[in-house]
Amino acid sequence: MSEIIIGIDLGTTNSEVSIIEQGKVTVIKDGDKKMLASFVGIDDAGQVIVGETARNQYLVYPERTIKSIKRLMGQDTQVVLADQAYTPQEISAIILTRLKVIAEQYLGQAVSKAVITVPAYFSDAQRQATREAGEISGLEVVRMINEPTAAALAYGAVQAEARQVLVYDLGGGTFDVSVVNMQDGVVEVLSSHGDNHLGGDDFDQQIIEYLIDHIQETNGVDVRSHSKAMARLTRAAEEAKFLLSDQPYAQIDEEYLLEHEGAAVHLSLELSRMAYEEMIEDYINETIDATHIALKGAKLTASDIDEVILVGGSTRTPCVRERLFNEFGFEPHSEVDPDLCVAMGAAIQAAMISGQEVDTVLVDITPYTYGTSAIGVLDGQPYPFMFVPVIHKNSVLPNRKTEAFATSYDGQDTVELSIYQGEDPDALNNVKIGEFRVEGLLDVAAGNVITLTLALDLNGILNVSAVEKETGLEKSITIKNALSQFEGESLDTAKQRITSLFGQMDPRIIDEESLEVNAVSGAPEIAAARELISKAEGLFAQVSDEDKEDMVDLIETITTCIDAQDINGLDDPSAQLTDIIYYLES
Ligand code: AMP
Repeated sequence: MSEIIIGIDLGTTNSEVSIIEQGKVTVIKDGDKKMLASFVGIDDAGQVIVGETARNQYLVYPERTIKSIKRLMGQDTQVVLADQAYTPQEISAIILTRLKVIAEQYLGQAVSKAVITVPAYFSDAQRQATREAGEISGLEVVRMINEPTAAALAYGAVQAEARQVLVYDLGGGTFDVSVVNMQDGVVEVLSSHGDNHLGGDDFDQQIIEYLIDHIQETNGVDVRSHSKAMARLTRAAEEAKFLLSDQPYAQIDEEYLLEHEGAAVHLSLELSRMAYEEMIEDYINETIDATHIALKGAKLTASDIDEVILVGGSTRTPCVRERLFNEFGFEPHSEVDPDLCVAMGAAIQAAMISGQEVDTVLVDITPYTYGTSAIGVLDGQPYPFMFVPVIHKNSVLPNRKTEAFATSYDGQDTVELSIYQGEDPDALNNVKIGEFRVEGLLDVAAGNVITLTLALDLNGILNVSAVEKETGLEKSITIKNALSQFEGESLDTAKQRITSLFGQMDPRIIDEESLEVNAVSGAPEIAAARELISKAEGLFAQVSDEDKEDMVDLIETITTCIDAQDINGLDDPSAQLTDIIYYLES
């Protein structure tokens, strides 16, 4: 039997330990919790507590609890815990000891070696402190690997063909984005950027502030000075945030929150995803800016990236996925649990060191996006069949998501819903897999909210239900073979069949026709490309020689395409030049 080396993700908010068993990755649970909260405390009886218990205690006895110690690693400082001073290494060692015990209890044997992950930006001092924390806990740190490297390993970096991957890691307290090159099991971090103080905790804080304001307005009391009530609000805010990742509204009810002037204060309020996403918009913008800086650091543009991997619990926030889709033009991957994929990668690295074989982490995902159509804007024009994705491609199965829609005219008593499978922004270019009507809606003004829920199970059975929010009036259908409608090959075969039909036409006619089409639809592209060139040339005076050289090359390629009226050929170089201009201007 080969020696056991555990893999550890020592996170700012949560930590996990994982191992390889019979070639498969197991993240070991702490009781019924899949993660160990990175909180350390001393309880009433003077005992050390770690994890959820310490996290709960933090709300009431912050002076006896330490959180986010990772932020202090490598600094020459101490923290005070129940009147005693500790180094950051010692506090981290307490977390590591707990993880070691969790692994030992699961395995029924002692463990003495570990692979620990660290952020790519960690300095030597921070890495050294992590190694020391390991030693204090009785673990020899056989290797420290970068977190994005670990995430890439969990996503099967072993493939032979080289891929440029962007790892977007948004956790509870930190944001990191890295560009990595992966090939043959080797992951090279090309660049990293991030913010040590940006994450899900900030999102919670926004909701908390909103709740505080609401209570102030409705009850005239400042809840900030009531620590128990604040603790409940903190918990309620995070729970609402979780719900809003899967549904458009979250109901927040906290009864008997506190007593004010002899009367009980209750909280009851509905928060919409739209309102919540507005609250966090600035934070998401910051992550997108950081993503561009990381790309620039790797001397790449968005169009060079083959895959985007989502890491960290906060990437479950739907607008994160949407923003990345808009930036890169394809769905990011999240099929390996974003909370656990760094720990999984650490275990894979550990197995590689101890010479074990590891299977790739395989999970069931949907290969297609499912959604409906709605009135919207497509290519700058109003369009009645804009595709609205509900369950996204690469989502883990089973999956259930709800979106809200609104009636479009006063007195509308019926909505017709069509369900599509596909990726095209024009719903009519996707595969229609079902349709139904909801009749007898309230006689009210436009804007009557209808929620649509799609629930897709492992067997490809898609349950679709629509509910009039105000009345609860519901209508549903079941689509039996949603996954198998056009599975992989058959979709390709259908495409080929259709393409070959066109191939049978007289080539001369096609040529003439396509020229005509180009002449019409090509004109704006060519004008846009010319404008892009002049904008780029206008920036020459302020760019480095290296950037200028890249720009000149791209301008040459674009000019060749313009001369040849090659509209398709314009796409790539224009996108690259646009990205460079974006960086230079930002
Ligand atoms: P991590 O540091 O990667 O463990 O991420 C923890 C953060 O992810 C915390 O702020 C959580 O509140 C957040 N998180 C976990 N699950 C979800 C979810 N379903 N939707 C939004 N945020 C989540």
